[in-house]
Amino acid sequence: MQFRDLKAQYQALKQDIDHAVWEALEDCNFISGSQVSELEHLLAEYVGVKHCITCGNGTDAISLALAAWGIGAGDAVFVPDFTFFSSGESPAGRGAVPIFVDVDARTFNLNPVKLEETVLAVKKEGKYTPKAVVAVDLFGLCADYASIRLICKKYGLLLLEDGAQGFGGHLKGKRACSFGDISTTSFFPAKPLGCYGDGGAIFTDHDDWTETLRSLTVHGKNREDKYDNIRIGMNSRLDTLQAAILKVKFEAFQKYELTSVNQAAKWYGEELDGSGLTLPLIPDGYYSSWAQYTVQLPEGINRQEVQDKLKEAGVPTMIYYRKPMHIQGAFAGTDSSKAYCPVTEKLCKTVLSLPMHPYMERKDVRKAADILRSVCVR
Ligand SMILES: *Cc1c(COP(=O)(O)O)cnc(C)c1O
Repeated sequence: MQFRDLKAQYQALKQDIDHAVWEALEDCNFISGSQVSELEHLLAEYVGVKHCITCGNGTDAISLALAAWGIGAGDAVFVPDFTFFSSGESPAGRGAVPIFVDVDARTFNLNPVKLEETVLAVKKEGKYTPKAVVAVDLFGLCADYASIRLICKKYGLLLLEDGAQGFGGHLKGKRACSFGDISTTSFFPAKPLGCYGDGGAIFTDHDDWTETLRSLTVHGKNREDKYDNIRIGMNSRLDTLQAAILKVKFEAFQKYELTSVNQAAKWYGEELDGSGLTLPLIPDGYYSSWAQYTVQLPEGINRQEVQDKLKEAGVPTMIYYRKPMHIQGAFAGTDSSKAYCPVTEKLCKTVLSLPMHPYMERKDVRKAADILRSVCVR
């Protein structure tokens, strides 16, 4: 059993992917081929925003968004404590200070009550200027954008949706990557929509930011004159081969992959019912793209032993995430390390991510569930 079965996916799509790759090779337009802008149009339309700007990866996407907003030294950026490193690395990389905020114990996402408390505390202390919130759609589930947006309005903060894991999900009829003033995603192979290397994208309705972002992805170039560089940018582009592959994968993603992965989640729910595990919660009105299926083990269960048992039976598992952001070594001794996030600390000790992808079969789900049940039910 694979944790995320990219081989099964390739076998299913092989003919179309091979053809798309071959076409791109024949064209030799390896950077900025027509496939890139075609993909951008398709993605923008799907997400329901005006602009999609592809880039090198999901981490660059966040950094580029913060750069377009001019966020830097002296600014505070609020980030959930329970997330992948990039969400906090990117603001720190721009010289801003990530301020980590605790999450909700059931959705794993930014807790809006804690967010407001933290914003007020930073304002009161007066050392940094609150500028933006990076809200993460963790494990495929959109964050609580109704509440987060209100807080952003109240305190004049920009909202960045880190949709690296959320692409394909939706909330009350609005798709992931449409909730931020700028939203970002990643096409890392194991993400809900992955390519065959690194890739990312930025989404926004804002015309001027789009122009800045396009310039930033190509060394801060002037729109009219490529060799006139008007700002310090990056070299961060999605290449033509990746765009060609993504166009094929995006079709399958819409046609059946999202439905299949939701079916697998339903099977887990049925097979793990009464197991004593805390299962992921998808609140009413939300639809997850299931980047991960993450359960919480009951207190007193040795997680390593559970993982070993599952591994012996051929069931791979992962721990997302083992360490809260504020405890990461890179933030040691900085104000980012001063967060108080007991929910995140508990989650880091109890979470376990199970195999999850659109090519799961019910027997795989049952096998994982049977072992989990045998070790968790007392
Ligand atoms: C994967 C991920 C990123 C970074 O994406 P890359 O393409 O690997 O740079 C950022 N945020 C979250 C939440 C992620 O899961």
